[in-house]
Amino acid sequence: MSALDPKTLTVLVTGATSGIGAATVRRFASEGSKVVAVGRREDRLAALAAEFPGLIHPLVLDVRDFAATEAAFAALPEGFNSYNVVCANAGLALGLEPAQDAKIEDWQTMIDTNVSGLAYTVRAALPGMVARKEGHIVFTGSVAGDYPYPGGNVYGATKAFVKQFALNVWADVAGTGVRVTNIEPGLTETEFSVVRFRGDDAKAGKVYEGTAPMTGEDIAEQVYFAATLPRHVVVLRIQAMANQQS
Ligand code: NDP
Repeated sequence: MSALDPKTLTVLVTGATSGIGAATVRRFASEGSKVVAVGRREDRLAALAAEFPGLIHPLVLDVRDFAATEAAFAALPEGFNSYNVVCANAGLALGLEPAQDAKIEDWQTMIDTNVSGLAYTVRAALPGMVARKEGHIVFTGSVAGDYPYPGGNVYGATKAFVKQFALNVWADVAGTGVRVTNIEPGLTETEFSVVRFRGDDAKAGKVYEGTAPMTGEDIAEQVYFAATLPRHVVVLRIQAMANQQS
């Protein structure tokens, strides 16, 4: 059985305004898929939509608000409302200080976004895909959900949540035609570190000094691979690391 035709896919991507999400939007749209691009920065979404006229529906949304998420998904226009791939990708790290020094509000924001926002996205999107007997939820977890590192504390725990949530959702949707994949990237150069250091580009740049990080495009390729496999195949996890140069 051949791979799925990307022109038959309507892909909803949260965290579409930069990094892995924006690259995922471009990967699918460049193959003719329709894409609902979700994020809070309206200007970024408008610019992305302008790159692929007619293929991208920009949706300004804070995934931490379940009522708004559910209402926005229900109100998607014809042509974009039968999404069959949902990339629950929006997420962030803040601070990443040792547990004894961390700011409680940073921990709360990570939990609200990476745990609650991600679960809300699934809860809002899943009934439609189950009813249509076809769908795919592609999570963005992280290697941080498996491997500890100094300062990773709550961030790593949110990504361990993503891994376990993905497997449990898969158990729930067994037999419905919906499949589930958790993409678990290692070091990837995006705006992730800029957000972590609250806009300090110099500090953010240092994170990647002397390393050979992956790019958002590298991760988007993995999402595209998993989502276009024949429907009888489900890849549950993809874990890719940056291959460090000697
Ligand atoms: P970016 O900072 O480039 O992208 C994060 C995206 O999440 C942005 O589009 C941002 O959009 C969106 N976002 C954040 N909070 C919200 C919110 N409340 N509502 C809606 N959208 C939100 O980083 P990455 O592309 O690297 O991050 C994408 C995912 O990849 C995250 O889940 C991250 O944890 C994960 N990851 C990243 C790795 C890396 O090394 N970069 C490694 C492993 C996993 P906006 O601000 O416009 O709302």
